[in-house]
Amino acid sequence: MSKSTPEELPTPQEILKLCMMSSHESVKYHEKLIEKWNDPQDIAQRAAVVILNVHELYGKMAFVVFKMLQNNCKHPKKMRDLCADGTVYCMDCNADLSEDEIFSTKTPTLMKQKVRNRRKIVKKYAKQKMTQAKIAQKLNVSLSTIEKDIAILKS
Ligand SMILES: [Zn+2]
Repeated sequence: MSKSTPEELPTPQEILKLCMMSSHESVKYHEKLIEKWNDPQDIAQRAAVVILNVHELYGKMAFVVFKMLQNNCKHPKKMRDLCADGTVYCMDCNADLSEDEIFSTKTPTLMKQKVRNRRKIVKKYAKQKMTQAKIAQKLNVSLSTIEKDIAILKS
């Protein structure tokens, strides 16, 4: 990573950052796949859910250890500032707080909740005899997503 020359071993913090970044990327990627496929019975989707959950857990575990190694910044949030390279740091103690921002939201539970909420709305609109194309347009998702939602709601 940026601070280490080839002869130097990466620091534990750098290794953990790499773990957090890669698991975060994987979680985002699999969320997109699951959202796109939208077929809970499908074997590939079930595998994607397992990968997503495992990688999210790895990311969270790496984050916990990372936090233990960090000098715990207890300064108020208003002391946080953004560097030009996107790093968030504390102006009082100089602690790197970027990971706080990255891991603050978006868990698979939230994603499942999002899908559940969408299906509730789809159900409501379908009851109002709204066409599938219109629902897709209203919710800003693809028509196939709505078709699958309705198939799942009927099953
Ligand atoms: Zn601080």
